[in-house]
Amino acid sequence: MIPEYHGTARVYAEEINDPIERIQKSLEVSYFDLHNIWNISNGYFSPCDGFHGYEEIRSILEDNSLPDGTRWSVPLILSAPFEICDSLRNGENVKITFENRVVAILEVYDKFAIDMEWYMKKMFGLKAERHPFAKHMNRKSNMCISGKIISVRRDNFPFMFKSMDTENVRKIIQEKGFHSVCGFQTRNAPHRGHEFIHKLALLNFDSIALTPSIGPKKEGDLPDNLIMLSYETYRRNYVPSERTLLIPVNYAMIYAGPREAFLHMIMRKNMGCSHFIVGRDHAGTDNIYGQDQCREYLTAMGNVGITPVFVDEIFYCKRCDELCTERTCPHSEETRIRFSGTLIRDMIKLGKIPDKNVMREDVFQTIAGNHQETV
Ligand SMILES: [Zn+2]
Repeated sequence: MIPEYHGTARVYAEEINDPIERIQKSLEVSYFDLHNIWNISNGYFSPCDGFHGYEEIRSILEDNSLPDGTRWSVPLILSAPFEICDSLRNGENVKITFENRVVAILEVYDKFAIDMEWYMKKMFGLKAERHPFAKHMNRKSNMCISGKIISVRRDNFPFMFKSMDTENVRKIIQEKGFHSVCGFQTRNAPHRGHEFIHKLALLNFDSIALTPSIGPKKEGDLPDNLIMLSYETYRRNYVPSERTLLIPVNYAMIYAGPREAFLHMIMRKNMGCSHFIVGRDHAGTDNIYGQDQCREYLTAMGNVGITPVFVDEIFYCKRCDELCTERTCPHSEETRIRFSGTLIRDMIKLGKIPDKNVMREDVFQTIAGNHQETV
């Protein structure tokens, strides 16, 4: 069953129509904020129609829900310099700019300070001080603006990839007649472990939606164009393309583990996915989150209209001579080749073609052949 939008309704911001000259005040946002505005405007963050206020943030961090009880895991925070917050009145409209181009109009609801220690602890856990995103946040003002995105100028969003809004994705799913679609989020090129998971999904569901996150990531992650090129090669050559959707999602990673896994899942629900693949360390970094934390958090959130599909780590076992998990292979660690982004990156650096059980050669060549131009 293709689910309805999450919460009360789909949120979609209309194009800016009114003359904007009469709006005096403007707020320049970061590339990171820009991605949130994009997702608010295009249905991905439904039912959230803007940046959260203090009570909503408290409710999300303490109760894992919006104040109306709808499950939600990641506060949408717009921080701003103190002088700007001070100059804004509640109820007034402000132009949101990126690199001085107007991208949206925000109706200001409130301005407030946030306790960053509390936020970091609730959001990322006790080890937040060594979290890459913590550094990014702490440099910013602790003043925030809440409000609704009332309209946007989509042409002014400087994204590398044109992505679809959720309604367009749903239209494709409907036209193809799929009754079950399993979403897969990634920020890497497809290796054989991914392929194993995709094929398990294709065995069980009408379709798989490969939805790479395109946008700001931490250092060392693969550039966006290489993720997309490698997936295009992969989709053409190794999965039934009529049942495999490839849809880039403009999104800024925050590496918040369980909370982010839930947000990723809700974004896929809003796209029309009935199921969503969740790995052992989904949206994790530097081993901050425990191996079962995602499963525990998503299970505790209860039935939210999309079903998480939990998968174990996949590896290649030389003795089994196939791709396995802990549940299928009886052998010891020495016989196993584990996949990681680092493994693939090192091979690109050395110009060494990976074992065919690690990555398809043509997928690897797509990355290696285009890598020089981007570094
Ligand atoms: Zn084995």
